[in-house]
Amino acid sequence: MTTETSPVRLTGLTREELDLQLAAWGQKPFRGKQLWSWLHVKLATEVAGMTDLSKEFRELLGQRTAPLRPGVGRHQVARDGTEKWLLVLADGETVETVFIPDEERGTLCISSQVGCALSCPFCRTGTMPLVRNLTAAEMVEQVLHVRTVLSRAGQGEETGAEGGAGKTAGGGKASSGEEKRITNVVLMGMGEPLYNYEATVKAVRILMDRNGLAIGTRKITLSTSGVAPRIPQVMRDLGVNLAVSLHAVRDEVRDVLVPINRKFNLAALRQAIMDSPLKSGRRITWEYVLLDGINDSLEAAAELAAFVRGIPSKMNLIPFNPWEGSPYLPSPREQVVRFQEVLHHAGLVTVIRESRGADISAACGQLKSF
Ligand code: SF4
Repeated sequence: MTTETSPVRLTGLTREELDLQLAAWGQKPFRGKQLWSWLHVKLATEVAGMTDLSKEFRELLGQRTAPLRPGVGRHQVARDGTEKWLLVLADGETVETVFIPDEERGTLCISSQVGCALSCPFCRTGTMPLVRNLTAAEMVEQVLHVRTVLSRAGQGEETGAEGGAGKTAGGGKASSGEEKRITNVVLMGMGEPLYNYEATVKAVRILMDRNGLAIGTRKITLSTSGVAPRIPQVMRDLGVNLAVSLHAVRDEVRDVLVPINRKFNLAALRQAIMDSPLKSGRRITWEYVLLDGINDSLEAAAELAAFVRGIPSKMNLIPFNPWEGSPYLPSPREQVVRFQEVLHHAGLVTVIRESRGADISAACGQLKSF
């Protein structure tokens, strides 16, 4: 329980913790339900706006709680409607969050750490040192912030965005009444979520709460570079979708592309997946970025098919998104297609993930906040 002197981050509390905190402040039990609704359903951005709470209660909250949202350093909109926010945390550190709208869904990619310790050489985030883990509140607030902006944009409010698609969220429609919604959340932004385990599990539980944001387990995907010992545990604890940044199925290649492989090699990673409970109808998503001349041969494709045999799988082939100073080149399009054909012939569901938001450096592997 947080002490009286440090402000409480309400957005980082589960429903049960919120009730306990309010009880510790001498508040009646019904306050918990009211406050939870303001935080996660009505999307209040400040305590002062919680108009049906008594003045005394609002004053108490104002004195004892931290702001409900991060600061916004920058908000950009790409030509394809992808949006990126640079969010400023209470201590001045920054992270990026990306919203990718589609016909039928809207995916929010959130960060779990400031920087990343794992230094995958194809990933721009990997050029940043790990500064610190995010708290559960800082992860939840990424979702709350974007949901609030999208909701306001749907009502025609200005969002202050820069970029090709206009100044309002959702492709510049000023007052469309068509609110873009977050239907899916992926933990694929900056950082390795399984190296920030406790905060990640807590944040996801808050996002899933049925009386709050109510994002279901099928709509949340946690992406890991392969922290093998944590994989069965997180699958048991959360039951969300799992994506694995694979990128190579030979240890000598993966040792370079995903250096955590030197600690947890491919055999350990595969065993961890085999040991993980997978809900019926679910598949493991394997992320595979295609780098010209490095991991894109047809032989590599056949080895990849053999590696995932026996595991319900979906293959995501990611054309490499170059960034300034990156040491790799994207595979030619025809090679990407040939690679996909080998996987198709092996009976694997395989999609080529089209790059989104590359003109604002919001595409996969391009995030960097300082
Ligand atoms: S790919 Fe993921 S784990 Fe690797 S450096 Fe980038 S953010 Fe870190």
